[in-house]
Amino acid sequence: MARILIGTFFQETNDFHPNDTVYEDFGILHGEAMLEDRTGVVAGAVDILTSREGVEIVPTYSAAMGAGGTITQACFERTTSELLHAIDRQKTGADGVYLNLHGAMASERDKDPEGYVLQEVRRIVGPDVPVVASFDMHGTITRRMLTHMDGCSILHTYPHIDWYETGARAAGVLLRILDGARPVIGTVYTPTMVRGDELKTATGVHGTFIRYLERLEERDDVLAGGIMLGHPPTDCPEQGSRVVVITDGDRDLAAREALHIGQSFWNMRSHMQCVLHTVEEGIRIAENAGGTVVFADAADATSSGAPGTGNTILKGFLESDYRGSVLFPIRDDLAVERAMEAGVGQTISVPLGGTRDPRFTPVEITATVEVLGRRDDTPIAVLKCRNITIFAAASGPLLCDRWMYPAFGQDPKDFDVVVKKLPHTPDEWYDDWAERTITIDSPGAASPNIPTLGHRFVARPIYPLDPDMTFTPEVEVYE
Ligand SMILES: [Zn+2]
Repeated sequence: MARILIGTFFQETNDFHPNDTVYEDFGILHGEAMLEDRTGVVAGAVDILTSREGVEIVPTYSAAMGAGGTITQACFERTTSELLHAIDRQKTGADGVYLNLHGAMASERDKDPEGYVLQEVRRIVGPDVPVVASFDMHGTITRRMLTHMDGCSILHTYPHIDWYETGARAAGVLLRILDGARPVIGTVYTPTMVRGDELKTATGVHGTFIRYLERLEERDDVLAGGIMLGHPPTDCPEQGSRVVVITDGDRDLAAREALHIGQSFWNMRSHMQCVLHTVEEGIRIAENAGGTVVFADAADATSSGAPGTGNTILKGFLESDYRGSVLFPIRDDLAVERAMEAGVGQTISVPLGGTRDPRFTPVEITATVEVLGRRDDTPIAVLKCRNITIFAAASGPLLCDRWMYPAFGQDPKDFDVVVKKLPHTPDEWYDDWAERTITIDSPGAASPNIPTLGHRFVARPIYPLDPDMTFTPEVEVYE
């Protein structure tokens, strides 16, 4: 019988978010409740582990959420101590540990929370129990993490569609180690912060690296491979990108392949940056377009941890003489509240946007309330201001979803311009039918204009903050 402990510690920190992440922002699960989700990364791991006869799964503790601001010290201490106590209680007779981690967490004082967790889990279970983790690709695998884990898997796809498979790959690595494989991690760090369309796996440069890694993973002597792209909005010392190739005992192979991919990654750094347009340029493009133009407000992407209250693009349209129809989503509690008080068909005047991010100042609008309702308990008001349909949602997890519109009578295909507060989305959301998608250079906590974010803790030099820097990739091996 192999007894495998499972834990989750998952959040994507955006240190440029104006609000901190506190304990109450996390969803906390204990024990068996961790196994109820059947599609995510833990489900993928559990399905592979339990397909093996004689494996006992021991779910311990899960603290998980999407993106948010810097984790307060109190939140860091409480979540990590709850996780580590849960693992400590189950450590007797443990044969392996699988941890579902993000990789982009940062707290007020510890800029490497996952490294701390791996270090402490190693201390609890001892040197002989294999510890394997899975990661989102948008994060940092630090040297502390590499020192205290035996293997890992990293998402292969962006936009992310292989959560389940990534959990399955991590479990596969763990089973291989339990069967006697001797993991050797070859890894290359590059001082790069990357963004933009070339990171889309299906069509961009990123995909060429991933397809190469997937061919490597087909080899019997390779346990896993992946690339941590880094997450520029996390302001941490080891920010950058990292290639990982894990072999079964073959130090030369791990080192050679990691260096090969790491060198290619470094060579392609200038391609993996975002092409940006000003709002005015975007409006001119829309004026001359024959179909819908999608404006990506990546800087205010709620999926990247920005508040979603940015109004730069809205202001740009209000100040222009553009007359096409515009669909503009925003988070704004006051506007939704005022619309609810007034009722459908009424006209309201309200300051809109900028409520949770001092980068923006509210813009005064007068609008007609067109539709009111709720989605997933979040109050929503659809407002019409001149040629602009404003989809205002109260604070909550929304805005990340193209499918929120139909229930409120809105079809993005009916608009000349659709603003999305997301960097990239699955093709069927917009790209399959829209004429063009452009990324707007608006301010925001998740701006793809990386030098504007204002990093304080990342090690220098790093590209693109230091665009002329020189660097020679070097391989590190952990075994
Ligand atoms: Zn990600």
